Order: sequence, then structure tokens, then C-alpha cells
Amino acid sequence: MIDTHAHLNDSKFDNDLDDAISRAADVGVDRIVVCGYDMASSRSAVEMALQYQGVFASVGIHPHDAKHFTDEALREITELSECSEVIAIGEIGLDFHYDFSPRAEQFAAFEAQIKLAGDLNLPIIVHSRESNPEAIEVLRRNKANIVGCVFHCFSGDEDFAREVLDMGFYIGVDGPITYKASEKLRRVVEMCPMDRLLIETDCPYLTPVPYRGKRNEPSYVRYVAEEVAHIKNISFEEIYEITTTNARRLFPRLT
Ligand SMILES: [Zn+2]
Ligand SMILES: [Zn+2]
Repeated sequence: MIDTHAHLNDSKFDNDLDDAISRAADVGVDRIVVCGYDMASSRSAVEMALQYQGVFASVGIHPHDAKHFTDEALREITELSECSEVIAIGEIGLDFHYDFSPRAEQFAAFEAQIKLAGDLNLPIIVHSRESNPEAIEVLRRNKANIVGCVFHCFSGDEDFAREVLDMGFYIGVDGPITYKASEKLRRVVEMCPMDRLLIETDCPYLTPVPYRGKRNEPSYVRYVAEEVAHIKNISFEEIYEITTTNARRLFPRLT
């Protein structure tokens, strides 16, 4: 199984990083993608990928941090991505829920990094919150379908899911799929073709039931997988196998 979106580079893992990785391996999560969200976390994602077997990295500037996006940052992301353990550019995107960076700067950072992904021929991990129409428009305009992308922690309805799927993109499902209130998300998973689903934790956030309220970690991706298996009415083994194949198709460097 692969946790395709984890923040082991968050300080909440400072004290038990080794244990968190081995707990994941113990339950069959033998691949983890550590996602960068600013320069420091992108650097540490790459360091972890070099240090730990089965850990891979993505590098990029999150919309929250878009106000700190510079030419220098773009140069360093380019350099980091030369490492073969870097499998994607991300997480990048738009976040109009928090608006921690001015929207003009969010758009500028997102677009520059999509272009970079195209130049480097690397797929994209997209973060979009209350900005779905705008995010897909920017991706479409910049031909992100050539490198491929995942809408991580998907938050749209079925109509938006259709738009995402029509572009050839993937849908990332996290812990909220296990929450009672997530009817809309369950309907999206129900209609989404099996070969377009990815499972992820976004740990330390979005902890699935039965650990909701505690810190999330990669080993809990199995609860996401189990809920997806339940919705799709197929076995856990099939879910593990199909989502692993999907991740490798979208992220060719993920071996
Ligand atoms: Zn995100
Ligand atoms: Zn994230």
C-alpha cells in the first residue's frame, strides 16, 4: 500500500519518525510520499527520501506560502527535483478558504510551478480548497494533462469530479471518507472509476475513524483503503493492488 500524501516533515513527527515509518511498514504501507509545502519542508522531504527505503518526496510551495514564492525558490525546487526520489511537484494550488496569501500571489506561484512541472516532466500534486473552478482552469490553460495530476484531499462534488476525470486527473481520498458527514465524498468515490483513485493520509491532519482526534500517521491509510473498499464493494486486497498501480501510473518515479 502507498500513502501518497504524508507530512512526515511536520514537527509532530520529530520524536517518533522512525517508529511511524516502521508502524506503517508493519501493516503493509511500504511506500510513503512525503510532500513539501514550503522550502524547508521540501528540503526535509528530500532528505527523508534519501535516508529511508520506501520514502519518496514531492517538492513545491503551498498556496498558504505563495507570498514567499520567489525566483530563488523556483531555482531551488528545480535543483531538488533532480533527485530521483522526487516523484512530483507539490503540493501546489489555491486555497480561498484561508487566503493566507493574496490570491494574485497564489495564482502566480501555482502557474509558475505547473510550468516547471511541465518542463521537468513531473506530475503535480494539487491542493485546492474553495477554489476548484479556478484551479482546474489554471491547470487546463497550462496543459497539466500532459504530466498528470492528483486533486489531493478531493473536496468537490460529483460534477466537479467529472471535470477532473475528463482531464485525465486523479482523485485523492483521505481520512474524511470515514466521517459520517462525508456523504458527498462517498458519492464521488462511488462514481469515480477505480483506476483514478489514490489513497492518502495528509498526516498529521485529517485522522480517520477510529483514531479521529489523535495525530494521523501513514499506517492509518489502511482505514481510508478499507472505507473505499466498502464503498466500491471489492476486497481490501483489490483496493491495495489497484491504488498502488494507480500511484505508479501517475508517478513514474515511484518504484
Ligand atoms: Zn493539501
Ligand atoms: Zn498536504
